[in-house]
Amino acid sequence: TVDSMSKVFIGSLDSGTTSSRFIIFDDGGRPYAVHQIEFEQQYPHAGWHEQSPYEIIKCANDCIDGAVKKFVAAGYNVSDIKAVGITNQRETTVVWDSETGQPLYNAIAWPDTRTSRLVHHFKNKHGAEELFRRCGLPLSTYPSALKLVWLLQNVHSVQEARKRGTLMFGTVDTWLVYNLTGGGKPGTDTKFVTDTTNASRTMFLNINSLKYDNFLLNFFDVSRGVKLPDIVYSADNEAYGKIASGILAGVSIASCLGDQSAALVGQRAFSVGMGKNTYGTGLFLLYNTGEEPVFSKNGLLTTVGYHFKGEKPIYALEGSIAVGGAAVKFLRDNLQMISSSDEVGQLAAKVPDAGGVVFVTAFSGLFAPYWIDDTQGTIYGITNYTTKEHIARATIEATCYQTRAVLEAMAKDSGYELKTLKVDGGMSNSDVCMQIQADIIGLDVVRPQYRETTALGAAIAAGFAVGVYASFEELKKVNTEGETTFTPSITEKKREKWYKLWQRAVSRCGGWLQ
Ligand code: ADP
Repeated sequence: TVDSMSKVFIGSLDSGTTSSRFIIFDDGGRPYAVHQIEFEQQYPHAGWHEQSPYEIIKCANDCIDGAVKKFVAAGYNVSDIKAVGITNQRETTVVWDSETGQPLYNAIAWPDTRTSRLVHHFKNKHGAEELFRRCGLPLSTYPSALKLVWLLQNVHSVQEARKRGTLMFGTVDTWLVYNLTGGGKPGTDTKFVTDTTNASRTMFLNINSLKYDNFLLNFFDVSRGVKLPDIVYSADNEAYGKIASGILAGVSIASCLGDQSAALVGQRAFSVGMGKNTYGTGLFLLYNTGEEPVFSKNGLLTTVGYHFKGEKPIYALEGSIAVGGAAVKFLRDNLQMISSSDEVGQLAAKVPDAGGVVFVTAFSGLFAPYWIDDTQGTIYGITNYTTKEHIARATIEATCYQTRAVLEAMAKDSGYELKTLKVDGGMSNSDVCMQIQADIIGLDVVRPQYRETTALGAAIAAGFAVGVYASFEELKKVNTEGETTFTPSITEKKREKWYKLWQRAVSRCGGWLQ
């Protein structure tokens, strides 16, 4: 075997929206083995977005198995994997039966908009004005709360389980930990838990106390007959138990973080005023606001950045943009304009601008900072001059303009302007996209060489929980090699002219859905 005497390894399970991966890191944050699997997205009706809970678990197990086998084949020992961290797509809602451990419906994925009518109903309900200051989230289709309400109102098996008292609710972290620790089978020490960062995306958590809030549970009528997971620290060597079976049986799960929180940790944005933007299926800009929650007046969410055992909770302001890489995927899969995601940059680079085309990629309404839910995707400004190159460019620009809008909102709320934007996620692989981003915001965009920051963040948290890192100071040294900086290259005049066009398009897009 390879000399791994002095080495400590941490496994990280990243259960994302479109794919799962398991990565094995050393204590310096260097990856040694990876296994990744893309899984199926189900769109049964316009606006509906589901996933199979079974597939989420199968992919997780297959990724663990695949990566560990590669690790062993390279000459390393399984016994050197000291702990596993978990990070996951947030808000996505799973319900299952505590007696059988079986899901009662598909997972309702976070971008799903079937609850838009419920949003209007609940907005008019007495007490709605209290929600934001209690949970930090706007009432929208996005958090888990209304997804669960919909399941309770519409799915017979869920109603029956509620009557029997066997209905379990969880976000993807809870579902993963529940299954990895035994799936409720007799003789296992199955854990039914969620970490504060995931819990802060449900609308059930009080963002100040970090406990379930009875007012919120009553408001959504989920205080009776629904088993909610215990809320635990994001990094904790006891709360999550041990993996019950398979190639890593007996290894402890030591951390759990929602994917955007994990990326904040992976980018080591540990000080107030540090932030990151992750360009995955959606785009998520998180900005560290320190030990106190800041409540936005400009369309941002308040969320838990991370909360490690023995440390104070760290809060973040978040700008959630529903559609980022998803629009690139749309060009590839629905329009077949490109055959792989990276071609979008090549196409866009063939034109100097979008030729007057603005693509408002509001496939699930527009999220931060606008929160327009009665709209859908719209392309403005098409003429005979328009080519697919312009559409490709407008697709990239849409995510970059929204990022600018979120940055402006953050500056207003925090009174502090970001100096550089740290980036990661699938779309950040494209140099063209990142250059366009720098041009549109007029700030340097800094991309780390190693961009699986979400997985890295969960590994760092797990390493912290099991004592691999003694202090936050040590964490700051992980993954600092080889950054790329994209510097703005267009004139201020052009930048403002383009952005005004975007703002005009956004101001026209509401009210489309009746
Ligand atoms: P998630 O964690 O949400 O599943 P990822 O961070 O893996 O997402 O990013 C995947 C998304 O990034 C996909 O929607 C894909 O279309 C987009 N993407 C990946 N590579 C590129 C690229 N080179 N250029 C543009 N978009 C890309």
